[in-house]
Amino acid sequence: MNDKLYDFRSDTVTRPTPAMRAAMAAAEVGDDVLGDDPTVLRLQQVIAERMGKEAALFVPSGTMSNLIAVRTHCRPGDELICEDGCHIYNYEQSGYAQICGIAARAVKGEFGVLRREQLADLIRPGNAHYVRTRLLTLENTHNRGGGKIQPYAVVEEICRWARESGLKTHLDGARLYNAAVATGIQPPEWTRHFDSVSVCFSKGLGAPAGSALCGAKDLIAEAVRHRKVLGGAMRQSGVLAAAALYALEHNIERLAEDHANARRLADGIRNIEHLRLVSAEIDTNMIFFRVDPAWGTAAEFVEKIKSQGVWMLSTAPATIRAVTHLDVTKEDVDRAIAIIASIMRAR
Ligand SMILES: *Cc1c(COP(=O)(O)O)cnc(C)c1O
Repeated sequence: MNDKLYDFRSDTVTRPTPAMRAAMAAAEVGDDVLGDDPTVLRLQQVIAERMGKEAALFVPSGTMSNLIAVRTHCRPGDELICEDGCHIYNYEQSGYAQICGIAARAVKGEFGVLRREQLADLIRPGNAHYVRTRLLTLENTHNRGGGKIQPYAVVEEICRWARESGLKTHLDGARLYNAAVATGIQPPEWTRHFDSVSVCFSKGLGAPAGSALCGAKDLIAEAVRHRKVLGGAMRQSGVLAAAALYALEHNIERLAEDHANARRLADGIRNIEHLRLVSAEIDTNMIFFRVDPAWGTAAEFVEKIKSQGVWMLSTAPATIRAVTHLDVTKEDVDRAIAIIASIMRAR
């Protein structure tokens, strides 16, 4: 039994480092609902600039950021088009429907990547029988797609189609920085195709909480109202904004290490009996793999490896997800592979 738990469940499990905590403790704060928290204001300015947008709004979570985006773009009775495996459609309780009165039309992509041809006939006719097709959302990197990077040319083509079809566009960029670091294509090049973009500070960037919604000034002004009614307006939130600013300063380039560690982990998994990678290509910091049902279920696998100090998530009866991040090193990856290999050999 190991003392240390190697936690690969998600890149959200990272804990603020002493240096990040020091930045939080030193943050100058005000009351952000009254508009005078200087650290929140600075974060919003910095992230807007970095995303190539006019303005930004600091919100508690990526879920709220996406929900506010949808709500600013759509009215009740509108429809959004999204990819079938995306976070907005699967993991946010259909907030767009519950809270905004909006329908979703999901199109199945390959590892989260759509093709322009699939969208051709999806705009509803403009008569009273139909909802109004209003918004297209994409996710980059794609979580359920295995941390898949959207091919840049596809993003460009689909967004051009959306614009020409009169649709608004939203990018769920919870892990946009992973895509940027892996490709060298900077965030503004990705985001210029979208009317709005949401980025998370609480994933690979290692902050304890917070996301930002970025877009044009008038869109963000409207977003302020929606954040308030959803209960997302915070007071001395400069303490959290300071963590996000620290993350932007220190934790972006190092995402490349997470990507290298994910490839290393995948190489280990690849060579273990009864385990099979869902996709051989590891774009960023996530890997998905299947366990042979003859060995047992994914839940049993997860239980077993946890008892030996390795923590992963089962996402389907035979599927497991592992994510690399700030708090797992190359040595941790090697140790985890060795533990899993010995468990699989033992049965
Ligand atoms: C994590 C995540 C979100 C938002 O999650 P919160 O936990 O609400 O911050 C949105 N989209 C994607 C792709 C995500 O992975």
